[in-house]
Amino acid sequence: MKSSTFLQHLWTVTLATALFFNLSPRKSQTHIVTFVAHGASFNNQAFSCELKWTTTSISKQDRSRFALRIRLRQEFMNYFKVMHGPYRYAASKFLPLLQDKWSDLKALTEGRDFLSSPSFLEIHLGEPCNFACDYCRQDPRNRNMGLRVIPLARPEMFMPRQRVFKLLESAHRLNTRTEIRYSGIIGEPGLHPDLIEILDKTVELGLPFGFTTNGVPLDRPDVLRRLTKAAWVHFSMDGATEETYMKRKHATKGDLEKVLRNERKLADLILETNSKTRIIVSLLLQPKSYYSQGFSEIGMLCGMAREVGADTFEIKMQHYDPRHPERVMAREEVREAYGIIDELGKRYDSRDYRVYPVQSLQEALDKIQPPVAGIIKAKRCWVNRFGLSSTASPLSELQHCCQYAMHTLGIQGNLARNDLVAIWSSSDRLRTFEFDPRRICDVCSPSDLWANNFIQWLLDSADKDNTLLPWIEQHFVKRDLSEKNLRPVST
Ligand code: SF4
Repeated sequence: MKSSTFLQHLWTVTLATALFFNLSPRKSQTHIVTFVAHGASFNNQAFSCELKWTTTSISKQDRSRFALRIRLRQEFMNYFKVMHGPYRYAASKFLPLLQDKWSDLKALTEGRDFLSSPSFLEIHLGEPCNFACDYCRQDPRNRNMGLRVIPLARPEMFMPRQRVFKLLESAHRLNTRTEIRYSGIIGEPGLHPDLIEILDKTVELGLPFGFTTNGVPLDRPDVLRRLTKAAWVHFSMDGATEETYMKRKHATKGDLEKVLRNERKLADLILETNSKTRIIVSLLLQPKSYYSQGFSEIGMLCGMAREVGADTFEIKMQHYDPRHPERVMAREEVREAYGIIDELGKRYDSRDYRVYPVQSLQEALDKIQPPVAGIIKAKRCWVNRFGLSSTASPLSELQHCCQYAMHTLGIQGNLARNDLVAIWSSSDRLRTFEFDPRRICDVCSPSDLWANNFIQWLLDSADKDNTLLPWIEQHFVKRDLSEKNLRPVST
């Protein structure tokens, strides 16, 4: 049995035992059993534990207080499990909340002011793309298809090389370990004409980075070699047949084969150079009619990714889009797809090859409900306040997050006029911390939603049980060395 599964069973049994002892109505005096899970060694697959039992005599009146305490601790353990799971953002966006962000989290719960440094910065290098996927770029000939508007009245832009350099330097000044994600909202980062220089600069500054791509433009040994320095390279594939690829992504014949070839070459280079780069292949779940082979393409892609040497097969839901309700998946379709994903998990998920649905079935069903904003529970955009979601667009706007093709909390500054260090502590940015995303935002990305909801949960729970934060701090908070990497955020 995998250690994480073992731990989960152990935790459940422990809670059941604790509840039995604590809540038995026949006893006037009983014992509370405290379970202490202590993160001892961490990696992306599992964590080991130390267990300690203590017994304390408590009165009948304290039972509900302890029941609440146990429930909140169990809820925290569920969050903790995700923080150590295979999701590519676990290490860069979730775990920092129990490391160098912990003192800021405590300040938030105590109502003290704080200014968190950036830990994660997304850079969208350009608008041009070699594909025009149905669920992404809005084809000017068919406005019903794409979800994201592409500029028609001006040429598509790349962020100039010098501006990217300046941005990287500023991010480094604010936090030497800021993780950079190169990606795009309508554009493919692999098409940037100065990609090599940008990757070299990132490595020179020692900034960890991830790279999201459709994989076609990586047909260059000089780029692939540089990508062996990345923490992860994420290939959005979303289909497994040439037919789906050509029809739905507006790809040309041979593109699918090219992507698979590039993945294989990268996997070989990673082995050759002893690199730790993880290859992630993802599928954004679409209505069944999207695929030429129906949902069997989920299994086909899972097998193909494993074959070419990927480490993780990631599946996430296409969210409901208020502008295109007709494109939304039916509930039965979601259930059917999740049945297949479940089977794939049982068959393939292992330490060497993770099969990871980003959302649970219930979360996936929530994603197709209008209004999707109902699933945002955070009263403020905590994820931005904690420096975990800022996104630089190809137009050099510092956006709240990567979802700016829809309604979000908007632009915090212009990187062509001011540098990131100045924007970070500017009143324009700080003012947006007062906005309520539940009234404004259409949808958070999965990782931002998770972090936002976790922080809101922590805030609410700390109010209900004053032992929760000290318990988390004692057993789960790693005062990481990265704390000393943080720079003062004033200009
Ligand atoms: S969509 Fe989510 S992450 Fe983006 S600004 Fe709104 S609350 Fe923040």
